[in-house]
Amino acid sequence: MQLDAKIPGGPLAQKWDRHRFELKLVNPANKRKYDIIVVGTGLAGGAASASLAELGYNVKTFCIQDSPRRAHSIAAQGGINAAKNYTNEGDSIWRLFYDTVKGGDFRAREANVYRLAQISNNIIDQCVAQGVPFARDYGGLLANRSFGGAQVSRTFYARGQTGQQLLLGAYSALMRQVALGKVQMFPRREMLDLVVANGQARGIVVRNLITGQIETHAAHAVVLCTGGYGNVFFLSTNAMASNISASFKAYKRGAYFANPCFTQIHPTCIPVHGTYQSKLTLMSESLRNDGRVWVPEKPGDTRAPQQIPEDERDYYLESKYPSFGNLVPRDVASRNAKEQCDMGKGVGETKLAVYLDFADAINRDGREAIERKYGNLFQMYEKITGEDPYGTPMMIYPAVHYTMGGLWVDYNLMSTIDGLFVLGEANFSDHGANRLGASALMQGLADGYFVIPYTIGGYIARTSFSSVTPDTVAFKDTAREASDRIEKLLSINGKRTVDDFHRQLGQIMWDYCGMARNNQGLEKARGMIQELRTEFWQNATVPGDDKDFNQSLERAGRVADFMEFAELMVIDALARQESCGGHFNEAYQTEENEARRDDENFCHVAAWSHSGPDKDPEFHKEPLIFENVELTQRSYK
Ligand SMILES: Cc1cc2nc3c(=O)[nH]c(=O)nc-3n(C[C@H](O)[C@H](O)[C@H](O)COP(=O)(O)OP(=O)(O)OC[C@H]3O[C@@H](n4cnc5c(N)ncnc54)[C@H](O)[C@@H]3O)c2cc1C
Repeated sequence: MQLDAKIPGGPLAQKWDRHRFELKLVNPANKRKYDIIVVGTGLAGGAASASLAELGYNVKTFCIQDSPRRAHSIAAQGGINAAKNYTNEGDSIWRLFYDTVKGGDFRAREANVYRLAQISNNIIDQCVAQGVPFARDYGGLLANRSFGGAQVSRTFYARGQTGQQLLLGAYSALMRQVALGKVQMFPRREMLDLVVANGQARGIVVRNLITGQIETHAAHAVVLCTGGYGNVFFLSTNAMASNISASFKAYKRGAYFANPCFTQIHPTCIPVHGTYQSKLTLMSESLRNDGRVWVPEKPGDTRAPQQIPEDERDYYLESKYPSFGNLVPRDVASRNAKEQCDMGKGVGETKLAVYLDFADAINRDGREAIERKYGNLFQMYEKITGEDPYGTPMMIYPAVHYTMGGLWVDYNLMSTIDGLFVLGEANFSDHGANRLGASALMQGLADGYFVIPYTIGGYIARTSFSSVTPDTVAFKDTAREASDRIEKLLSINGKRTVDDFHRQLGQIMWDYCGMARNNQGLEKARGMIQELRTEFWQNATVPGDDKDFNQSLERAGRVADFMEFAELMVIDALARQESCGGHFNEAYQTEENEARRDDENFCHVAAWSHSGPDKDPEFHKEPLIFENVELTQRSYK
């Protein structure tokens, strides 16, 4: 299949307007004749459900949690980007576009990123109208702070709870439509499979997580907003329920998976402190506005931080990258932290940590000012580590945080299956090989509030639909396959817990497909994953039954999918013989240890299609064409 991104013609700045004009419309009175399924209620799904229902479509919305409000998006801390230029620092749509393309190491589509930058300003207006309590400056305008990879302050925030406040906005809009009867909300449902009938996505199979019942739901189109897959690493900053299952099932039904190896490792997380941990905690990137990153100059220095004099400290980001300093993008900051620890300059008990120090900021601005900006984050840090970050520097280390890979979508956010749209972190579309901070919230809301309302109409208006119901064969077959799989999981009757398998899988991925990769390690990881997967299906224990609330069963299903998906990530990493953004293959680095891209051979999106059980996936290429920015070696010096 030829990968056609359907990028509209014309100048970059006019593509989206032109496309919106050219898209066919569904008459307002006809919209009520169409049903749309939205899976996920994070910022992408919440925004999409509310907007589509507001337009008049009948929406059915599904999520795993007991309330749409508990989606992983609620955890987002630092902020959301927009090119408002309230600070008069010289920001513009073009600059946001350029920073994002460069931040992604030139592995994202120009047209998508430009549209994202254009829409960024509408998002802020819409959220303010909803009542989202963004921080404000002394004059009453919305305040901004800086995030990595940008030399202007363009990040809008609500203390360290931006995701929560934005999600409350989307949730209010969603619940308004629930009250109006335009959205039917199905919480506590897990999508187990996608139903494809006559080549079109026409429904889903879900498990009611309370009763265990398998249900089928039909619609004219399906919108997946199921988030990212960082939990393949077991330890990550993601919510415990974040998973790959819905996307992976769609992949198995014919949707291509793009750039699965592009994982973001966030530089400022609380370091791992024991084998009993199942989750890692992010310390927001916003802290790098005021916190200074350093390690002792001398390897093996065990003195307390306060006893290390200034001239025996290495503020390595500030000295190596004078232009961006502590605000270099995440991939760069993470790799440098690892490098310092590899040189023996790591701190803390495990020596796998660096300091993030607020002493200078507190001396300069006063404790109260710092408390006002980051109070809840400092409190969280103290609760977890028992140390007071106002008095002693935080200790931080990189951790898995975000996944730039996802289901391949065209400019309309439609996958390679007709009628299957993918939004938010679940798609691959806008961040290339590295996402800049504060741009995931921007993308999720752009997709949900401002892109899908147009593009889904364009699809519906040009498509003829056969009549399907849950009694149609495709629905019955897919539901039976989902039930069979549950039965198979429950009948393994082995001795090892699912969590134990998951932890081992995560360690393999972290060791060989994490911050630094090499071909030998990736080959080895592939074999280890295959062996572990075989053992999983022979020796996992899944207690309880399927007619009840059974979290062990839920986890088993998700881990089984991670077991297969992990291999796809490794295959993708092996195929990309270059370094770019979060994909750092040790064989490809500059003399200064920065990622060395190979634009001649790898300036493309790698999209994979499923070829059947035990067969290697098939590779497809979407060439990336840069007409507006020049491909350069990324530099933040
Ligand atoms: C700690 C933390 C802080 C962050 N801070 C920021 C920040 O400051 N700025 C920023 O831009 N980004 C931030 N991010 C990233 C950002 O939060 C996420 O990328 C974004 O919220 C993802 O939104 P989403 O709507 O795509 O998916 P999610 O919010 O992950 O929602 C996924 C939804 O899908 C549902 N779901 C999943 N699988 C299934 C299934 N099989 N069946 C049914 N439902 C399913 C879930 O129930 C949920 O409702 C942060 C991330 C983390 C982890």
